[in-house]
Amino acid sequence: MELSYILNELGEEREKYFNAVSPPIIQTSNFSFKKVDDFRKAFEDEASAFIYSRGNNPTVKILAQKLAALDGAEDALVFNSGASAIFAAVFANVKSGDHIVSVDKPYSWAQKLFNDILPRFNVTTTYVDGREIENFKNAIEPNTTIIYLETPNSWNFYLQDLKEVSKLAKEKNLLTICDNSYCSPLYQKPIEYGIDMVLQSATKYINGHSDVVAGVLCGTKKMMTKIFNSEYMNMGIGATPFNAWLMIRGLRTIKIRLEKISDTTLKIVNYLKQHEKIESVVFPFDVDFPQYKLAKQQMSGACGLISFTIKANTIEQVEKFCESLQHILMAVSWGGHESLIIPGCASIKKNEFDPSNPDHRKMRMYIGLEEADYLIEDLEKAFFKSY
Ligand SMILES: *Cc1c(COP(=O)(O)O)cnc(C)c1O
Repeated sequence: MELSYILNELGEEREKYFNAVSPPIIQTSNFSFKKVDDFRKAFEDEASAFIYSRGNNPTVKILAQKLAALDGAEDALVFNSGASAIFAAVFANVKSGDHIVSVDKPYSWAQKLFNDILPRFNVTTTYVDGREIENFKNAIEPNTTIIYLETPNSWNFYLQDLKEVSKLAKEKNLLTICDNSYCSPLYQKPIEYGIDMVLQSATKYINGHSDVVAGVLCGTKKMMTKIFNSEYMNMGIGATPFNAWLMIRGLRTIKIRLEKISDTTLKIVNYLKQHEKIESVVFPFDVDFPQYKLAKQQMSGACGLISFTIKANTIEQVEKFCESLQHILMAVSWGGHESLIIPGCASIKKNEFDPSNPDHRKMRMYIGLEEADYLIEDLEKAFFKSY
């Protein structure tokens, strides 16, 4: 299906709402019926009906159709956060006694689920360095049911070979789930490589304007219906009509946003790489990235999220650099219009700072929609001021 069709038309039935170009926000909790027979039919299959907005809602449905098509999936569910998409995808597919093989250091709330919540239900997780397929092979136990991936990882940018992992999973009859937040479906389509379920934080590139928290999970119709009828309805974790409407609006421009960000990201990476106060820069589409070949092979683009390590001897120098930035904001999240930075030293105690540990001097940076020169000047001034 053509991208322009998905973003501009798919799922929209304009003749039903006065030929309005922008779809309505169907802000309703419930839907009424004229015939008992129709009501009964809806109850029999709530996943295909409009009964109550904790389940299906027409505005959310428009978005879900677009998101499924972007991933090349049969169906999609839209959640009120990426974290709840992770929770539902995993929770729906484990029972007491099961074992999960997860890539090392997945998103923090995936770790929380694997480390703290699932063990209470006798479900255990083994983490592996996902850069080598052997590590997955060695970690699989007779009771393993899921392989959980995140490629590229949003902190260390390590990749997993989607084709190899899905081949292994199919041999062993395991379910594969991949967090695709880094690339978005525009730049990586895990389902085409045989991955069963793909999720992402729609807070990031899908919405793209830093004003919505949401998530999406894609997979087969059968799997999405199963999750709809259990975790989705039971926990009431679906996206609201208003947020879905904002995401439909965000999607209209996703292609040009990502192109612009890709262009700027390369300029920032090249600027940082030649800088005397920079020790290293990590970005999957940089020729010096260790998994560059695989990145080019399975991703059609990379953008926005990078990390760099600055040279510094004291935590004060690192803090001065961050606090001297005038335009790049210090904040979590990414994928919006605004450039952001998170210093690694924000997650340690001040007196734990060790200048010989590069992680303490590391910055995760997100490049937004500002002009490259504007961002480079901001970085340059901050380097100059800090030491
Ligand atoms: C942000 C993020 C999530 C979680 O999404 P929320 O919308 O914040 O709940 C999951 N995975 C990755 C890689 C993320 O960056």
